[in-house]
Amino acid sequence: MSEPGRHRFEYCPKCRNELGERFEGGRLRPCCPGCGYVQYLNPAPGAGVVLLRGREVCLVQRRFEPKMGQWTLPTGFMEWDESIEETARREVREETGLEVELTRLFAVETGILPPDQPVIVVFYLGRERGGDLQAGDDAADAGFYSLDDLPGTIAFAAHRNVLERVRSELLNGDSK
Ligand SMILES: [Zn+2]
Repeated sequence: MSEPGRHRFEYCPKCRNELGERFEGGRLRPCCPGCGYVQYLNPAPGAGVVLLRGREVCLVQRRFEPKMGQWTLPTGFMEWDESIEETARREVREETGLEVELTRLFAVETGILPPDQPVIVVFYLGRERGGDLQAGDDAADAGFYSLDDLPGTIAFAAHRNVLERVRSELLNGDSK
């Protein structure tokens, strides 16, 4: 589990009073004695896409910390005004240059993004619809790699779990 620690506000973002604590919705939460503001700490939602070319899967190499240099499926955080499907398509476009259509929901993973950010990531299966494969600004590299010979360390348990499921559920038939 992740402690709210640095995510917890010290002062009310609305009226600048020092926050106290109060039971709200079943647990003790940061709460403003002045205006009644309650800070609800929730995981950050993100989306990722499993994009296959035969037995190869699209992976991007992380340019920045955390886990710089390691590999993930194309994934990112949801913006305020997006649907989760829009997030998934945008992240693939930004990180790989490819346009995708989402074909179905594949997995939902919860976990902690280091050092301490709880996240929920929705993974879709996708199909290429165009674009040119090219690593985006926040990726060091992007490409299709054999599921039997991944290019390096896969960052984050959620991505390792999803890749394992891809191997066992989607590709078993192909390899026999
Ligand atoms: Zn306040």
